[in-house]
Amino acid sequence: MKNIFNSSLQKKFILIVTILLFVVLLISAYVTVVSNIKQTRKNLTEEAISFANLSTKPLGQNYDLYFNSGYFKFREVFTEILKLNLNIKEIQFIDVSGKIIFDSKYVGGSNYQETEDNIVDKTTLDHVLSDKPVYINNPNQSSEITEIYYPYFTDWGSHAYTARYFISYDQVRQNIISIITQAAMLLIIFLIIAVLLISVSVNKLILSPISIVSEMAHKISEGKYGRRIQIKTNDEIEVLAESTNKMARTLEQNIIDLKELDKLKDEFIDIAAGSLKVPLNHLKFDVKYLLDNGKFETKEHELLTDITVNTNKLQLLSDDLIDVTAISKDSTSNIFMPLDLTEVLKESINEVGISLKSKKIKLKASLLKTAPILGDYQKIKMLFVNIIDNAVKFSTEKDGTVEINLIEKGNSYLTEVIDQGIGIDEKEIPKLFQKFYRAPSSAVLNKEGSGLGLYLSKLICDLHHGSIWVESKKGEGSKFYVSFFKKDTFRQTYIK
Ligand code: ADP
Repeated sequence: MKNIFNSSLQKKFILIVTILLFVVLLISAYVTVVSNIKQTRKNLTEEAISFANLSTKPLGQNYDLYFNSGYFKFREVFTEILKLNLNIKEIQFIDVSGKIIFDSKYVGGSNYQETEDNIVDKTTLDHVLSDKPVYINNPNQSSEITEIYYPYFTDWGSHAYTARYFISYDQVRQNIISIITQAAMLLIIFLIIAVLLISVSVNKLILSPISIVSEMAHKISEGKYGRRIQIKTNDEIEVLAESTNKMARTLEQNIIDLKELDKLKDEFIDIAAGSLKVPLNHLKFDVKYLLDNGKFETKEHELLTDITVNTNKLQLLSDDLIDVTAISKDSTSNIFMPLDLTEVLKESINEVGISLKSKKIKLKASLLKTAPILGDYQKIKMLFVNIIDNAVKFSTEKDGTVEINLIEKGNSYLTEVIDQGIGIDEKEIPKLFQKFYRAPSSAVLNKEGSGLGLYLSKLICDLHHGSIWVESKKGEGSKFYVSFFKKDTFRQTYIK
């Protein structure tokens, strides 16, 4: 019961059932109430006609016998007869001259109080004179008879006077109100019970299994491929659950296969790049020896220098490939050691500074006194050396200064590396952190590089749950941002 109302499917279902049931119940209640009222009105009219039919004679005789001689006796008999139909609110006896010789509304006291106003109008007199009963309908409600004129004939057959009955429909009106109240209450009670019963059974049979399937499918979509749906409903929902389980199994297997493949690929790259290292070193050393000691024509000298440049490029690529596979493999938490980001940045600046001597670009740093974080010192240094090195690499001499700032930002430390170099085209920015990506604009400077540096930097950031992003405009320089959690926040969030 507890989760009947907590899913949108359940809410929609309950809403639809309630509306449908309400409409159906309202229509049936309306039909029942209307026919009930019609029947009550008909009964009342029929009873009044029968009453007039049966009581006119005894009432007339009672009048003839006692009215003038023994009023108390008359009153007693009259009252008893009147009790037989409570919907007759008044009876008059009108003689054929149009005079009201008796009116029940004056019965009650010890004497009969006759009023002055006791002559009826022409229409009433016409009804009085009729030898047959006359029924007067309610002008607003044709099925109601409000008055009955019933002629009284003496035993000798003379039409001495006519009894006029006034019929009250107050009982019908009261009935209408009580029937409507009862119907409304029944409707509400029935609606509540029906909605509850239908909701509980539909929830148990359909909605609950569907929400189990949808919850599990959601978990699987979040990457929890090991989860399985356990339901036995013997219907389409069970088939859906089975298909979802099958999909999860296939996904799980595919991911295992992919991981295995990725591992093999990393191993292959690692071995290939490692195997390249030694021959490349030899090649570099040999060419250097030749250039230092040999005597060559200009063309041969140019070719040997070209070999050195390309050997350097190959060496850089193989180093970067080895770094990428090493970092991709390393996801254990034991790499997170306490370290000071300020120190890492100082060392990185120094390292880039050494290779800067030939350039006229200045490095300007504004660092915090200390910025304790948890991480792998060498990897984080590799990240900053790469970014600062890029800032220098993609600045020309006239571009002046590369700025490095370390600031505190909430529960993180933010490093900014700002250059005024060639900048990056807006549409290149989303691709910068992909493997082997080198913006075409940078080719203008013909800089050395593998296109793996920013990919590596992003890997290192991800490994430390940090972030890296860039703001840049072509020709206006670039701002690289790197954010790492402070030591305590990192420990509380990621070290269990
Ligand atoms: P590499 O420097 O080896 O080419 P990276 O992954 O470090 O590879 O950088 C990828 C590309 O991003 C560079 O080739 C260059 O086009 C662009 N880039 C990186 N840093 C900057 C920068 N500070 N200014 C302009 N372009 C940059």
